Amino acid sequence: MKLATKLIHGGVEPDPSTGAIMTPIYQTSTYAQEAPGKNKGYEYARSQNPTRKALEDALAISENGKYGLCFSSGVAATDAVIKLLEPGDEVIAGNDMYGGTYRLFTKVFEKFGIRFHFVNMQDAESLRSYINEKTKLIWIETPTNPLMNIVDIRAITQLVSGKNILVCVDNTFASPYLQNPLDMGADLALHSATKYLGGHSDVIHGCIMMNDAGLRDKLHFIQKSCGAVPGPQDCFLVLRGLKTLHVRMERHCENGEKVANFLKAHPKVAKVYWCGFEDHPGFAVAQKQMRGFGGMMSFTLKDDSVENAMRVLTATKVFALAESLGGVESLINHPASMTHASIPREERLRNGLTDSLIRLSVGIEDVEDLIEDLKQAIG
Ligand SMILES: *Cc1c(COP(=O)(O)O)cnc(C)c1O
Repeated sequence: MKLATKLIHGGVEPDPSTGAIMTPIYQTSTYAQEAPGKNKGYEYARSQNPTRKALEDALAISENGKYGLCFSSGVAATDAVIKLLEPGDEVIAGNDMYGGTYRLFTKVFEKFGIRFHFVNMQDAESLRSYINEKTKLIWIETPTNPLMNIVDIRAITQLVSGKNILVCVDNTFASPYLQNPLDMGADLALHSATKYLGGHSDVIHGCIMMNDAGLRDKLHFIQKSCGAVPGPQDCFLVLRGLKTLHVRMERHCENGEKVANFLKAHPKVAKVYWCGFEDHPGFAVAQKQMRGFGGMMSFTLKDDSVENAMRVLTATKVFALAESLGGVESLINHPASMTHASIPREERLRNGLTDSLIRLSVGIEDVEDLIEDLKQAIG
C-alpha cells in the first residue's frame, strides 16, 4: 500500500461493537474481567487502551515499522529511550538540537551517571573518534532545529552496524511523510506528535516506532512502569491528524519553498536556512533521504541587532509569535529566548545559533498572504 492509504487506514478497523468507522475514545481507567486474569487483553489503562492501541498500530505503519508506542509528550518518549541505558553508558548527540532534549540529557540524566557528547553530526566520520565500548546510543535530529542542518542517517547507521549501539532518530521535523529512518537502518524513530503528526496545535503527544520486538518489550515495560502515557482523547486527536498528514505536508512543502525563495531574494535578509536550496551544504543528502524539504526554516537579517529581529517578530499578523511548529497555522519564533533558551548562550553561539535568528514554521494558509505578511513585517 502507498503512504496516503496507509495513513488513513493503517491500524484502524471499524469498531467491532458498533461498526463505527472512527476508533472511539475509550475513556476508561480499567476493564471488567470474567475471572482474575481472564480478560479481553485489557486490564488497566496505564498498560493499554484500545484508542491508544489503534494509534500505536497506525503510527508503526506510518514509519514502515512493526511496533509503535505512545507517550504523553515527545519529551516523555525521549525520556523512555534514555531509560534503556545504565550509569556509565555514553550517548553521542548532535550539537544543534531541540532545547528540551538538551535540557533533559544534561540536567536530568547526567545526574544519573549517563554521559553525553554533543558533536557535529554533519560529518559522520568525525563521530568515529567519540565511539568507545561505553557508547550505547547515537541520537540524531535531521533536519536540525533550528539551523536546518542535514545529518546523513544511512552513513551513521552503517558506521555503527555490528556494534552494540542503538541509533535513534528524532524525526519530528521531517514527519513520516518526508523521511523514514527505520528504512535507513535506524533502530528507533521518535516523534513529538505535538507537531506535524497531530498537525492542529491542539495536543501534546509523543511516540516511538521500531522493528525489534526485544526493544519494543523493553520500552513497553518503561512506558507502563514510569507511566508517562497519553489519555485516549489525546490519542484520538493524533489518530485524526495522521489521516491528513500527506495532504498537509504537500502544502507545507509548497508554501515552504515559496517563502524560502521570497526570503532569499529579500534585500534586508542576510541568510536563509532551508534544506531545499541547492547551495545548502546538506542538499545532496537531503535529496537522497527526504521526499521533500518541508516548511521549517530560519533566517537572519542584514541589520543583525536583536532589536531588529524583535521588531520583525512582533510585527507579523498571520504568523503568530509562538513556540512549537508543524500545525496548519504559520508560527514565528525566536529560538534564542524561546525554544532554545535552555541551551547556554556560549554553546548556542559556538554552534551558529545567534541572538537574532528567526525561525518560521510555514503553515498551510494561502502562501500569498504569508509572503505579504512577512513583507510588511520586514519592511
Ligand atoms: C517539540 C519537540 C520535542 C519535544 O516534544 P514535546 O511534545 O513538546 O514534549 C522533541 N523534539 C523536537 C525536534 C521537537 O520539535
